[in-house]
Parts: sequence; structure tokens; C-alpha cells
Amino acid sequence: MITKSVRRLPAENGISGWEAISQRPFPVRSLESNVTADWLIIGAGFAGLSAARRLQQLRPDDKIVMLDASEIGKGTSGRNSGFMIDVPHNLSSSEYSSGGLDATRLEMAQNRAAIAFAREAADEYGMSAETVDPAGKINAAATARGMKLNISFGQSLKGAGEKHSFLDASEMRKLTGSDYYLGGLYTPGAVLIQPANYVREFAAGLSRKIDIFERSPVTALARDKGTWTAISTRGKVNAPNVILGVNGHIDDFGHFRGRLMHIFAYASMTAAFSAEDLGRKVSGRDRWALLPADAMGATVRKITSGGRSRIVIRTKYTYETTITVSNRRMAKMAEEHRSSLDARFPGLKHIPFEHSWAGRLCLSRNHVPAFGALDEGLYSACCENGLGTVKSTLAGMMAAELATGTASEQLEQYMDHAAPSRLPPEPFAWLGINSVIRLQELRAGREG
Ligand SMILES: Cc1cc2nc3c(=O)[nH]c(=O)nc-3n(C[C@H](O)[C@H](O)[C@H](O)COP(=O)(O)OP(=O)(O)OC[C@H]3O[C@@H](n4cnc5c(N)ncnc54)[C@H](O)[C@@H]3O)c2cc1C
Repeated sequence: MITKSVRRLPAENGISGWEAISQRPFPVRSLESNVTADWLIIGAGFAGLSAARRLQQLRPDDKIVMLDASEIGKGTSGRNSGFMIDVPHNLSSSEYSSGGLDATRLEMAQNRAAIAFAREAADEYGMSAETVDPAGKINAAATARGMKLNISFGQSLKGAGEKHSFLDASEMRKLTGSDYYLGGLYTPGAVLIQPANYVREFAAGLSRKIDIFERSPVTALARDKGTWTAISTRGKVNAPNVILGVNGHIDDFGHFRGRLMHIFAYASMTAAFSAEDLGRKVSGRDRWALLPADAMGATVRKITSGGRSRIVIRTKYTYETTITVSNRRMAKMAEEHRSSLDARFPGLKHIPFEHSWAGRLCLSRNHVPAFGALDEGLYSACCENGLGTVKSTLAGMMAAELATGTASEQLEQYMDHAAPSRLPPEPFAWLGINSVIRLQELRAGREG
């Protein structure tokens, strides 16, 4: 028997606002015994949940078990900004569309397949319009450089025959109530999710047929005569097939070591304010969602429910070799959020942040996933390159197809990528990656 210990377990900084305002639709159940299944999925984020749904479609009679170290909705899948983006969105470059026309078309087709899969699940599991809203998104520009980036992105969308439209400063003001923006580029295909609701309701839908155990970290994975055993704190799962949907934690399982960047993203959500008075006067319409024209800028969303509005802002990234960051770092990031918000909405200066949090993304240097068969019966659907609402959904779908031997053109195209390339050794990676991030953030200026 070969046993590999899991080096580190997930932990989170702060409670995300999305989780705080979301209701859990089903009780938490932990693994308390030894269980045997046909399939084990480790990780219940976008990747793991999507793998489970696709497996259920392909093997409806098989027994599927899912384990997560934390509770669904508390991890990164429940603490993001909720943009499911169909058009290209390359976080490693300030320009979203950096590939050729064929690559752009393929990426959009893949993103749209993932979004269609998510929307089908949302329909089947009865998710509300607050959880899944196909409203499209706007790349908002606050600088001349941002405007140029939007124009060049618009040109590449035009080249690909993609619908889009430009908004001028007064249209942006009407929408958001803010004078901050010079213009925007609207694309209709993005879907906005309330991320904590989405993963919780997705899991609730799946839990009718599969066993989901939360607060059940996998601390070691062993293999003996064709059977994998996942060892957790109070129980074990034996299965011939395992899909890992653990994102950057795949390197804690001993795979892709020295190849994945663990990037922290930071966000804050305001306290609720009246949608009628303050809401409309100071922050425009009830719901809107802005991505920055420069990928290193700020993502800002307004949500309204039951006559109460909130603004959610995400700015700043850091690369870390640790699982969490210090309270000092968290306080500094909340200050950054405050000044970005105040600059856009001076009329909301007296509305405090109710929640500030961080979450971990996984990027590879050459922008490819950590995907595929790792061993007999062991598959990875990891490293989403920062856009996991869509990319991890797709990786989960594709891992289920690969693991069941379901051939498709989509799987063939998805598998046609290099392995994640090697990073420089530490501390050079830390210094180099943080310097690049900082330079890109400085260049983004008022977009952040
Ligand atoms: C602030 C912020 C804003 C973001 N905004 C967006 C956005 O607007 N759009 C977008 O597409 N993406 C966004 N992202 C990124 C997105 O959230 C991630 O790409 C996505 O969550 C990745 O999903 P995943 O399922 O691959 O991994 P995760 O969500 O990280 O899920 C992995 C799961 O594995 C579990 N796990 C790990 N190790 C173990 C173990 N040993 N045993 C058991 N379970 C384990 C974890 O508990 C976790 O639940 C954002 C992220 C952050 C932090």
C-alpha cells in the first residue's frame, strides 16, 4: 500500500459577505464511518460539484461520495465576485483578449458550454434570479488607458463577430450613480451569481442522490490493489476512482509542485443601505456589475434585495506561500477597498463595510489548468487560472468525461494544452510575482 499524506489543509481569512447573507438549504453532515463508493470527489467547489453532476449524468446508477475539508460556501467558490464570464479574460495580462481569433473562439465556446451547464443545473435545482442572473457585464474604464483597453477589446470582439456595445460617461453615471467612470464596454453573455447561494443550492440539488460530507478533510490518500482510500479525521472512503477538485491544494496532495501560483484576492461588502433613497441617488440602479477595463483594477457590484442594497468591491492581489495572511494585511486591504469605494461613491462614505475577506486563486505561469489523469483511477480538475466560476465548472465536467472514458470533441480540445510550467524557486518566485503584481496595479492606477 502506498500512502501519501496531504501537506496542508485549507483555511480562510474572514467570513465572506456572500456567505453571511446566504441561507444554508441543507444541514452539514460529516464523515463519521468507513464508506465504500464507485466514485470519490474531493473538494466541493465549482470543480467538484460540476464533476459530481456530470458523473451523475453519465453514470446514474453509480455511488458517488464527496468530501470537503470545510463547509460548502465558506471556501473560495463561495467568496468570489460571482462573474461567470464567457468572453476571454486573461488575468495574467492587463488585456483580456490576448490570443488569436481561433483561440478566442475556442475559449468562448468552452466558457459558454460551462455557463450552459451551470444554468441547466440552476433550473433543475430551482435557483432564484438573485442566485443566477444572466445580466451580462460591463468592463468599466476610469482612465484614458482603460478606455483604450476597452476599444482594443471591442475590436477583438468585433473580429470574432461577438455582440457588444459601448457606454459613455453619462450612461455609466445613470447606471451606477457615479461620475468616476469615463465609459464602459457591455457584453451580454456573462451570468452573475450570488456565489455562496449558488454552491449551496447546487450541493443541495446533488445531495438528493449523492453523499456529501463536509468538515471532512482528506489528510492522506492511499492506494492498494486498485482501490483508493481517502483518510479523513473520523472516517475513510474507499473507491476505485477519485476526482480531485481542490484547486491550488493539488500541490498539497503531491502533484504539480513548484508549478502553481497561489494568489490571494481581497474583497469587502458594505452594510445594507436603503435602496430607495440613498441607493438610487448615490449608486444608481438596483443591480449592476462592473469589471475593470484593466484586469488589475477593481471589480464592483451592487446588489439589492428586499429594499436593501449593498456594494461589493474586490481590489488587490498578492502571491503567498502560506494558506492565510496576517490580520495586518487584511486591515490594509480593507483600507484599500474603502478608498476605492469612497472615490467612486463619496455619498456612501458613512456606510461601513460589514465584511472583508480574502480567498485563494490558482494561476499557472503559462495559463493552463492542472488537469488530467495523475495515476490509475486518479484525476485532477484543478487550477482555474483565476476564473473558476467558469473554468473550474468546465474542468469538473471534463474530468468526469475523462474518468468515465466518454469521448467527445470538447474533451479532446480541452486536453490539448501543455502542462503547467515550472516557477522559479522560492524566494525568487515570491519576489518576482509580487513585483509584477505591484507594477501592474500601479499601472492600473484609478482603475483599482
Ligand atoms: C475575492 C475573489 C473574487 C473572485 N471573483 C471571481 C469572479 O468574479 N469570477 C470567477 O470566475 N472567479 C472569481 N474568483 C475565483 C474563483 O472563486 C475560483 O476560481 C474558484 O472558486 C475555484 O473553484 P474550484 O472549485 O476550482 O476551487 P475552490 O473553490 O478552491 O474549491 C476547492 C475545495 O477543495 C476543498 N479542499 C481542499 N483541500 C482539501 C482536502 N485536503 N480535503 C477535503 N477538501 C479539500 C476546499 O475546502 C474547497 O472547498 C474570485 C476569487 C476570489 C477570492
